[in-house]
Amino acid sequence: TVRTRIAPSPTGDPHVGTAYIALFNLAFARQHGGQFILRIEDTDQVRSTPESEQMILDSLRWLGLEWDEGPDVGGPHGPYRQSERGDIYRDYAMELVEKGKAFVCYRTPEELNELREARRAAGGHSALKQSDLMLPADEVERRRAAGMPYVIRMVVPEEEGACEVEDLLRGTIELDWGMVDAQILLKSDGMPTYHLANVVDDHLMQITHVIRGEEWINSAPKHKLLYEYFGWDMPVLCHMPLLRNPDKSKLSKRKNPTSILYYQRMGYMPEALLNYLGRMGWSMPDEREKFSRSEMFSHFDIQRVSLGGPVFDQEKLSWLNGLWLRENLSAEEFAARFQAWALNPEYLMQIVPLIQQRVEKFSDVAPLAGFFLSGMIELDESKFAHKSLQTEDIRKILQFASWQLDGEREWNKDRLFAGCKALADGMGYKIRDFLFPLFVAIAGTSQTVSVMDAMAILGPDISRARVRHALN
Ligand code: ATP
Ligand code: GLU
Repeated sequence: TVRTRIAPSPTGDPHVGTAYIALFNLAFARQHGGQFILRIEDTDQVRSTPESEQMILDSLRWLGLEWDEGPDVGGPHGPYRQSERGDIYRDYAMELVEKGKAFVCYRTPEELNELREARRAAGGHSALKQSDLMLPADEVERRRAAGMPYVIRMVVPEEEGACEVEDLLRGTIELDWGMVDAQILLKSDGMPTYHLANVVDDHLMQITHVIRGEEWINSAPKHKLLYEYFGWDMPVLCHMPLLRNPDKSKLSKRKNPTSILYYQRMGYMPEALLNYLGRMGWSMPDEREKFSRSEMFSHFDIQRVSLGGPVFDQEKLSWLNGLWLRENLSAEEFAARFQAWALNPEYLMQIVPLIQQRVEKFSDVAPLAGFFLSGMIELDESKFAHKSLQTEDIRKILQFASWQLDGEREWNKDRLFAGCKALADGMGYKIRDFLFPLFVAIAGTSQTVSVMDAMAILGPDISRARVRHALN
């Protein structure tokens, strides 16, 4: 039976790209009466968080994407979280060492840099192979005895030539072995790298089709080799085109909101967002633009995926969402959905503590907190009028604040404030003045709740988008 999977790394906000790849994996599995698995790839212990994992699961469920096996629902091939499978990867890495297909490497980061430099200076590629990394036996022994950290690397071909990889959509792809490093399989902390864990798990979880983003094509030669070394059948590979910004560059949060939470908070219907993702590189046989999940699945054919980079355009999504709102909801349903979106206790309870002390009657609430229920804020020059800031100051502050927000990994009030304070000091503005343009960009006025609280509640993508919008 067909088995597909999505394997997100829980290192940030849930990405629309993850939902897009999940949708195509699920469609393929359902079309063939197969199963769809969710596996969490959290071997990067520094960047992975349980909160991020929970948000990924919640967002995919919100979109109506369900999995047959996964960390929360279980299944016969668990655990489905890579951090809980450490022993499995270690055993397989040792198996390769015993077979002579992998080797222990004691090289230090400084030595690796020098080796790479030397390789580059000699012309050609800079991939490091086993022969580059070899140390004399007595030096290996010395480092081992001294307890120096080591990694386990895979052996890769050192001769010239291309590796041929089959792709369901692209046919045979040729990739030059010269570009392929003696990849680390097991890190010095004993955790596997993506490549080892991914191949081992796809095999043990009996995945038949690996449908993933095209950013992973360059990994395919290493994976192919690992399947050969282990003597396992390789799943069918299918690399999907990546989502793009309207200017055709790779969809990135610096230009376009990428978090599913943004689309939720903006008030899109999950059915409409899923419909739109289904149109990314794919179309119905009759080219109709609006279709439900079940309509998509009953007409699904992966060969209809076109490789030209699909553009994720928020205006088109809004247009489609409008159709869904008008055509698929009764007035009662609209009211119920709106209520659940705007007035759900969870969201309301984040806002109420900020405003309760500042109002005299309920009718004061909307003017004070209406921006929590808005998309982009209508702005004009006059809103930015300030006694000690000129137009250039305002622009400069917003531009630097925007870069600062783009770089923020951890989104909470204290971090945001610390970042702004450091910027204001560095730029020579009083923090009060520095925050004024930010207030206007985020809330439309400075006469409201703290802008740090506001940004923390609105989340990174809406906050970033509003500051960008204010700069336009
Ligand atoms: P950004 O540039 O906005 O920071 P990123 O590439 O760093 O994005 P990641 O956090 O690395 O995003 O990716 C999260 C998930 O989303 C990964 O599974 C990745 O494959 C997927 N993804 C990222 N960008 C795209 C895209 N343009 N199209 C499809 N999937 C994507
Ligand atoms: N963990 C990888 C990711 O975050 C999985 C890539 C794959 O599907 O092989 O996208």
